[in-house]
Amino acid sequence: MSVTVGSPGVRSIYGSAISAKALGSFSRPRVIMAVQSNVISVAPILTKLKEDCATPLPVLRHLAAAMASVMRAGLAVDGGSDLPMIPSYVDALPTGNEKGLFYALDLGGTNFRVLRVQLGGKEERVIATEFEQVSIPPELMFGTSEELFDFIASVLAKFAEKEGGEFNLPDCQTREIGFTFSFPVKQTSVDSGILIKWTKGFAVSGTAGKDVVACLNEAMQRQGLNMRVSALVNDTVGTLAGARYWDDDVMVAVILGTGTNACYVERKDAIPKLQSHNSTSGGMIINTEWGAFSNGLPLTEFDREMDADSINPGEQIFEKTISGMYLGEIVRRVLLKMARASELFGDSISEKLLTPFMLRTPDICAMQQDTSEDLEVVGTILLDVVGVSSNASARQIVVEVCDTIAKRGGRLAGAGIVGILEKMEEDSEGLIFGKRTVVAMDGGLYEHYPQYRTYLQEAVQELLGPQTSTNIVIEHTKDGSGIGAALLAAANSKYGHHF
Ligand code: ADP
Ligand code: MG
Repeated sequence: MSVTVGSPGVRSIYGSAISAKALGSFSRPRVIMAVQSNVISVAPILTKLKEDCATPLPVLRHLAAAMASVMRAGLAVDGGSDLPMIPSYVDALPTGNEKGLFYALDLGGTNFRVLRVQLGGKEERVIATEFEQVSIPPELMFGTSEELFDFIASVLAKFAEKEGGEFNLPDCQTREIGFTFSFPVKQTSVDSGILIKWTKGFAVSGTAGKDVVACLNEAMQRQGLNMRVSALVNDTVGTLAGARYWDDDVMVAVILGTGTNACYVERKDAIPKLQSHNSTSGGMIINTEWGAFSNGLPLTEFDREMDADSINPGEQIFEKTISGMYLGEIVRRVLLKMARASELFGDSISEKLLTPFMLRTPDICAMQQDTSEDLEVVGTILLDVVGVSSNASARQIVVEVCDTIAKRGGRLAGAGIVGILEKMEEDSEGLIFGKRTVVAMDGGLYEHYPQYRTYLQEAVQELLGPQTSTNIVIEHTKDGSGIGAALLAAANSKYGHHF
């Protein structure tokens, strides 16, 4: 009965992936359904997926140009484009000369980090550093603003108490903090910003519309803690500052983790919406919030359905196509369609495969690393994570699906980076392509997914061509944002520069 597969050709390629077990009995309703739906087999689904996800050079070129143009529109006026292009008010970048004791505090997800660093200037650099990571008690993610900030201040107070002899501060000085806060904020100065909304599962009452620095300073006062926030930064901005401390050629920073974002050093006169601000250096880091980009992306039915089912439909489309939170979920949706249309995983569909976000990006990454002949790791992950059994050819198809989604994500991220570089180069010829320029990268997705990283770099090279791309260094900066925030606290210290 050839009804189980689309065509003889399909059977010869994927034959063993499609079980004929369901044909054994027509008495079970589920089997009848399987036979009907098997008219469509997995091969056309995979082919269509690859077509819809294709990122040939013209598509990437178009995307890079669109990124540059929405950046410009966002810099012209607030709300000028999809991209918020938020001025960070960071106009003094670390030079390496910073000296003294500074703290950093990083709140951006379920973990919260505190760090202290003793900076010794150009020669000694980082003399000592210590950090601690604490998970935010889940109930505080749904509590009041005071409860959350009191908790943060109490962790900070305990950490400060343990400050050892290798850290020192001149008498009478207040300890200064760089506060990395990775939620959408309308920055009002380098040390103040209004929370627009909580994201990433936080639903804390009483903070939206308030200055988060004031919330923290008040909580520190309640704790009797003599510390003050000198810089409020986004994690991308912290990463750029942390990388710049070691390398003067860093101009752009990109985070590819659960979500994604990018920032870069912009010329003051290229920010029309901020003409009233007096920048000391003539430049400022702009936080693009590029996750909101949406022009000309190659999207599939799976992306559209995932977006429609999300808590923010129509928003963050670039983020939903390239970042770690979503890649595994897109793959799960493809596999579910394949399982419904054929017998890729046998004749039933598991509860787990039906469950959104069951398959995570680290799982699809691990499957792509499997080099065994029968793809045993893939088989184990499919069984453990989504509860389906598979044979070797089904596993091969799964790996192809993972690769298709990772490839599209990496290449689109690469095109986004080129868009930023081209925008900067168009404004000041020779600034970017005429010399060595570094793009600092961080985030779990970039760090741990080698194929994704390779696809990203290939796209950058294809777009820039062999000559120009030799000047562009895409470099991983691990955990630069913590020390970056401390460095920005130093650069914006109320005691002036300590050098
Ligand atoms: P966050 O973005 O939440 O601040 P990270 O930068 O550490 O945190 O990124 C974590 C994200 O990175 C995870 O949500 C996941 O999507 C992705 N990730 C983590 N480990 C891996 C891995 N081994 N392979 C692919 N992606 C990974
Ligand atoms: Mg992070």
